[in-house]
Amino acid sequence: MKKNSKLETILTHYGEDRGAYHGAVVPPIFQNSLFTFEDWESIDKAFDDRMNNYIYSRGKNPTVSIVEEKIAKLSGGEKAQLFPSGMAAITASCLHFLEPNDHVIAIKNLYGPASTLLKSYLAKKMNIETTFVAGNDIEDFENAIQENTKLIYLESPSSVIFSLQDIKAVAKLAKSKGIKTMIDNTWSTPIFQKPLEMGIDLEVHSCSKYFGGHSDLIGGVVIGKKEDLDSIFLNEYEILGAKVAPMEAWLLVRSLRTLSMRLERHQASAMKVAQFLEKHPKIKQVTYPGLPSFPQYQLGKQQMSGYGSLMAFQLNANDLEKIKSFFNNFSVFQKGVGWGGHESLVYVPAISYLKELDEEQFAGMGISVGDIRIFIGLEHVDDLIEDLKESLALI
Ligand SMILES: *Cc1c(COP(=O)(O)O)cnc(C)c1O
Repeated sequence: MKKNSKLETILTHYGEDRGAYHGAVVPPIFQNSLFTFEDWESIDKAFDDRMNNYIYSRGKNPTVSIVEEKIAKLSGGEKAQLFPSGMAAITASCLHFLEPNDHVIAIKNLYGPASTLLKSYLAKKMNIETTFVAGNDIEDFENAIQENTKLIYLESPSSVIFSLQDIKAVAKLAKSKGIKTMIDNTWSTPIFQKPLEMGIDLEVHSCSKYFGGHSDLIGGVVIGKKEDLDSIFLNEYEILGAKVAPMEAWLLVRSLRTLSMRLERHQASAMKVAQFLEKHPKIKQVTYPGLPSFPQYQLGKQQMSGYGSLMAFQLNANDLEKIKSFFNNFSVFQKGVGWGGHESLVYVPAISYLKELDEEQFAGMGISVGDIRIFIGLEHVDDLIEDLKESLALI
């Protein structure tokens, strides 16, 4: 691989040792639990450097390593560790940085299960205290710092409302106080945003979204400095037994080859859809960081080189029955949660909230039944706009 290879070339070829697989242009799925050795000396040597040797597939596996090398290179990190899900990657990162009784600062609109991990599980098991802040202003973080603050956990753009944090400013503040930082970069991917280059310690992703890209796998990844990643490999990966299936890794090798192209198309279609929605008389507001009307548009332009294709909009209507028929009418957009695959998706967050909350609590959440979330997939954008038009006509 040439030193100054560009992104697409890296994603296509980097980390693959074709000579070792009889020249096969696609690497094999190393579906084996263990690796064998010639003699005492070679086993002894492998154990002395278990981070760099294939011994047992709960540790390193060659198909998994290919994905880790590609993603580390892509993100500008020294090392990456693949995990069986995004949540496993997030849990491992938190456990790596935290000791009992530590304090965490996280953003309010953190991915739901990650927020539950902090405020329920880690709070109960390790007495971890978390302060949730809006995060639009650097002062939100400054004011929340305590003596025992060990970690600042960002997600920019955040879940649900896509709010941004000034990544460079937060990284600088944290460094000056000896606090570690991590960011969930799933929405942008390293194609559009490179937090490690902005001073963040660990970057995490759900590979179930754009990295996988075909809605056929669940995975996660952590990227950062060698020192942190070596410890995560030996402890949270190998000892806690968070093993990645070689088949899932193999699917990721396939997907990463087209990541950049897919994102270009996702981005172009999302922009057209966002512009269409913004002009539509039945829509009150579109929330998409790529639109100049987005409140933090300037900050986004500074720290992102492009935009993902998950967005939200608010209907003028608030009539539950009408919104149900609007939702049920979609035929190109599929109805479901999760995102990042080939297929466009529509979801009404109220479906989940109305299950858990009474009407008053729901009103207190600051969202309404007219809040719609869409993910723009790889279908032709004209068909997507047509599908939206037809459903909007029912409102
Ligand atoms: C889906 C998602 C996750 C969790 O990933 P899984 O692979 O489902 O465990 C974390 N963060 C964000 C932003 C996500 O969208």
